[in-house]
Amino acid sequence: MSRRPIAQINIDALHHNFNHLQQIAPQSKILAVLKANAYGHGLLAVAEQLKVAGAFGVARIDEALLLRAGGVVKPIVLLEGFFHADELPQIVASNLQVVVHHLSQVDALLAAELEAPVHVWLKIDSGMHRLGIYPEQFSEVYQRLMASSNVLKPLRLMTHFACADEPDNPTTSNQLALFKQLIAGCEGELSIANSAGVLAWPQSHGDWIRPGLALYGVSPMMDGRSSLHGLRPVMTFSSSVIAVRQVKKGDKVGYGASWTAPHDTQLAVVAIGYGDGYPRNAPSGTPVLINSKRYPIVGRVSMDMTTVDIGNDNVQIGDQVVLWGETLAVEEIAELVQTIPYELLCNITSRVQLRYV
Ligand code: PLP
Repeated sequence: MSRRPIAQINIDALHHNFNHLQQIAPQSKILAVLKANAYGHGLLAVAEQLKVAGAFGVARIDEALLLRAGGVVKPIVLLEGFFHADELPQIVASNLQVVVHHLSQVDALLAAELEAPVHVWLKIDSGMHRLGIYPEQFSEVYQRLMASSNVLKPLRLMTHFACADEPDNPTTSNQLALFKQLIAGCEGELSIANSAGVLAWPQSHGDWIRPGLALYGVSPMMDGRSSLHGLRPVMTFSSSVIAVRQVKKGDKVGYGASWTAPHDTQLAVVAIGYGDGYPRNAPSGTPVLINSKRYPIVGRVSMDMTTVDIGNDNVQIGDQVVLWGETLAVEEIAELVQTIPYELLCNITSRVQLRYV
């Protein structure tokens, strides 16, 4: 029996989430965000399942080329765009679409001699202040792109939310108002909403929604749980018990001897660690599921192993241990380790076997 950690990917749940998002935004096409190995769920496998998506979004060109090499023919958008004009021939040859977020890209794109025109997603900075042309540049850039034969029409006009996961934060309304004011009267398809936008800001749906996290059945909201939003978690991350041992009251466990047994008990040693992407800073008390029951991690998470206090229960070598999934939400683990579910999902390493069911 394999003791390798497994990330089991539930294809039904993936389809459920896609369809659910489509029902929430029935007028919008879906650009499914697959960057960072589809948030740890497997780039090509997820792409193969989401054939109904209107387009795929990745951050970098090498992610897009992996999709093309895997036989994906659907539109692919480079969400970070390109950095230098010498990338344009490859972009054209691979039929990729680009986000343009900086004047230098506009200049390079319009000056290039291209074999074929490209689809452009013009990104406007409406208040996140990360990527995007400045609002005062918009009118001129829009006109230049519209006039260029290097740019396929319709032009896509987009912006990105900074705080859509906080329903009471006024930043989102301000971003929406500025974006809508700028693009008033312009021709093009609009794209604004990430997962939180889709779920909490119906005014932002536009022609294209761009969900990432919600596709994978995880809540993007600050205080959220996926079930509150009708989503089903796609990943169950698990491993196995590789040893069961007795400890006596007062025994100290693991690196740094950071946990002391308060009474005689048993520990299950689980084949999971930070070398697999499980967070090293998970504090004692972080839950796992063994045979559907919650047990606390005790002591430090090490590279390949983690210890769990199983009390007097009958746990066997080889029993499955769920780290997140089933009734243990990745959102709960993220809160305990003071991060966001995005990071936990992306951090899963290549030692973990992705298994599709
Ligand atoms: N759109 C853009 C431009 C992004 O960078 C991202 C991811 O960060 C997304 C959409 C998807 O975001 P989320 O996973 O929150 O839905």
